[in-house]
Amino acid sequence: MESGGSKRRVVVVGGGIAGSILARSIQFNADLTLIDPKEYLEIKWAQLRSKVEPSFAERAVVNYRDFFSNGRIITSTAINITENEVLTADGQHIGYDYLVIATGHSDNVPVSKTERLHYYDAENQKIQSARSILIVGGGPSGVELAGEISTDFPDKKVTLVHKGPRLLEYIGPKASDKGLSLLRSKKVDVKLQQSVDLKSASDGSQLYRTSTGESIKADCHFLCTRVPLSTAWLNETILKTNLDKDGRLKVDEYLRVKGRSNIFAIGDITDVPELKLGHAAIHHAYLVAKNLKLLMGGGKESKMSVYKPGPEVAMVSLGRKHAVAQFPFATLGGRIPGLIKSGDMFVGRTRKHLGLEP
Ligand SMILES: Cc1cc2nc3c(=O)[nH]c(=O)nc-3n(C[C@H](O)[C@H](O)[C@H](O)COP(=O)(O)OP(=O)(O)OC[C@H]3O[C@@H](n4cnc5c(N)ncnc54)[C@H](O)[C@@H]3O)c2cc1C
Repeated sequence: MESGGSKRRVVVVGGGIAGSILARSIQFNADLTLIDPKEYLEIKWAQLRSKVEPSFAERAVVNYRDFFSNGRIITSTAINITENEVLTADGQHIGYDYLVIATGHSDNVPVSKTERLHYYDAENQKIQSARSILIVGGGPSGVELAGEISTDFPDKKVTLVHKGPRLLEYIGPKASDKGLSLLRSKKVDVKLQQSVDLKSASDGSQLYRTSTGESIKADCHFLCTRVPLSTAWLNETILKTNLDKDGRLKVDEYLRVKGRSNIFAIGDITDVPELKLGHAAIHHAYLVAKNLKLLMGGGKESKMSVYKPGPEVAMVSLGRKHAVAQFPFATLGGRIPGLIKSGDMFVGRTRKHLGLEP
């Protein structure tokens, strides 16, 4: 395990919120390498606001170097791991003493912050120039986008089509009902239990056919369906037997990959039974930072901190003033939860975790 230098080599694969907070937290305690195919962290829960207000992305897209100064950044994708190395798509072999996997969900996004900001300008242009908009998918992304567009552009006709029986299926039916009535109050036409044939409008007719035979007229569409977990790359690695049937990494109470003494996993990819949310990912990152500092300082494994999921709170924003919030004791919809999330979309709060001005 000794690397030759005085500090242990830690490799963090994935610079989403989990990997970023972890990297920032241990950068002065380890010989640290962060691997991600892009040069920035994107605060994901601000994405839909950035489509209606592109300047919002200036604060929500943060270059790694703004909060991670003491370590190496490799702008590439991890494609394999062995007992002591990570291999990247650009052919590098990076040795580790400790490895943290935080690859969350894979999204096809550009490499630089500048390109990402241009993407939001283009998305905004697409919204501005359309009179009618089709949103496909009624999970958090589709619902938040419908809320944003219908709030900022009330004259546009917004249709949301979802193939399941209710919106926001990852949380409870009360939250779904509140989300549905808020969207309907904003004149969004919500169609459940239908899917859309996107090819049907490729003839230029701007008519999208659904599985029930309806036709929806729309000048453009946004695809907001589920983004897959980024763990398929582990299928041919030493961790292939540690994946559960949903492709999540099985972890122990210290967030170590089960059966491994020096490999941790954090964020959405873990099999911890809890809602997969950013605030849980942040909690994982701080816990693993603490455990790594202990181990790297020669502490005993038995002294590591144990992860206990916190109370589950899920919030879905519906434009600048409204939201739906599911707390363990109640589900609320409207302006009160909107006061918590919908103004700044937790961007300032998240930036503070990174040691940045809100
Ligand atoms: C619309 C929406 C709204 C949300 N709202 C909230 C909210 O209000 N509150 C909340 O707490 N949570 C919210 N969430 C959930 C939250 O975004 C996720 O739980 C959180 O982003 C998970 O973080 P992560 O670091 O595990 O993974 P991700 O954010 O998915 O990051 C994974 C990182 O790994 C990188 N990566 C992937 N594969 C590889 C590879 N092979 N090699 C190297 N790097 C790789 C990716 O580029 C990415 O940077 C929301 C999500 C969405 C989509």
